[in-house]
Amino acid sequence: MAIERTFSIVKPDAVANNKIGTVVATLEAGGLKILAQKMIRMTEAQAKEFYAVHKERPFYGDLVKFMTEGPCVVQVLEGDNAIARNREIMGATNPAEAAEGTIRKLVGTNIERNACHGSDAADTAKVEIGFFFGGAELAALSR
Ligand code: ADP
Ligand code: MG
Repeated sequence: MAIERTFSIVKPDAVANNKIGTVVATLEAGGLKILAQKMIRMTEAQAKEFYAVHKERPFYGDLVKFMTEGPCVVQVLEGDNAIARNREIMGATNPAEAAEGTIRKLVGTNIERNACHGSDAADTAKVEIGFFFGGAELAALSR
């Protein structure tokens, strides 16, 4: 298997509910390394651009509002098959449908307020990492 990097967000609901630690512990227990991590408050412009792929969906406006309502933690994760592995560890988009032990099952509230984001493919992972982390910033953190 290939070592990959993926982009992850501990969303504002999980941060507000004091679940950053639960999310990080679940990612680490699942075999992923936290390569980089920082707490930010996403701006409306950032949230709109980050989720631009969903701009025609009925939930887009609410999603942008949710992602900007409070701080979130943006992360770069690294590991074997990290993109697919992280999607497994997160669980289904809707926490009600997420498997036992997944982050969304453990700390998600509903299909919108679902605790975490994870890139869905190699191309989106690269773009999403670059959206929040600089190359020099990551180079300094490599281990
Ligand atoms: P995922 O985050 O699992 O890749 P999507 O890319 O389909 O899911 O959706 C992006 C985010 O938009 C979801 O994580 C969730 O926060 C929100 N979302 C998705 N579907 C809905 C919906 N039907 N109603 C409200 N919010 C939604
Ligand atoms: Mg998605």
